[in-house]
Amino acid sequence: MCVVEHADPAVGATRRPRVAMLGGTFDPVHLGHLRSAVELRMVLGLDRVHMIPAHVPPHRAAPGVSSAERLAMLRAGIGDTPGLHADDRELRREGPSYSADTLKSLREEYGAEARLVMVVGHDAFLKLADWHAPEALFDHAHVVVIARPDHAAPLPPALEELIAGREVSTPEALFETPRGRLLQLALPSRLAVSATAIRRWLQQGESVRYLLPEAVLSHIVRGELYRSG
Ligand code: ATP
Repeated sequence: MCVVEHADPAVGATRRPRVAMLGGTFDPVHLGHLRSAVELRMVLGLDRVHMIPAHVPPHRAAPGVSSAERLAMLRAGIGDTPGLHADDRELRREGPSYSADTLKSLREEYGAEARLVMVVGHDAFLKLADWHAPEALFDHAHVVVIARPDHAAPLPPALEELIAGREVSTPEALFETPRGRLLQLALPSRLAVSATAIRRWLQQGESVRYLLPEAVLSHIVRGELYRSG
């Protein structure tokens, strides 16, 4: 078990580890992902954010760039940012990269009392009821939904059913229990950056500067990734 538990002098008691998983294709990782991870850590007082590239994404077409390259870009993008961790656990598993399996392995690592959170952007949240074993997500973790510009839409009925009775309105209420609740958050910087737009601009030979870290851009240029033809 990973030992990040530490005493919180503010409450004079042992504080449970607070750990988040932010999964995605990261094709490529950009400032929307990275700034969200940093602000989540700040707003929720997280000890660590595991950023986990999907090896075989179950819910979308296979990315054109290999999982090893996507992981390398994620590592380059995170650099030495405190509390963010480029986690390769889905690359070490065969078959579709189900989040329920990933959360189970994080739960085993951090123990039953850790406050474990799965973070999704609002666009991903809208499809949550269609994921593999959606109830299991809440058996292992809380779900935190982050607002994304241009991604507001009504919730489908199956999602309403999945989340019924789970929603809380503050981080304190979320962390009363180790798992099973839902919190929707609007982080301070809601960056309208998407990997789809970055890939399109790269294919068109347009600049993507300032949308992703310099180190990620260098990796893309060196590897001649996302070029048309
Ligand atoms: P694509 O455009 O290829 O769908 P993406 O930019 O949405 O990619 P993903 O790797 O699919 O990136 O996203 C991983 C997770 O990060 C998802 O939960 C997604 O909602 C969230 N996310 C992506 N971009 C942002 C952003 N700009 N702000 C907040 N969350 C984001």
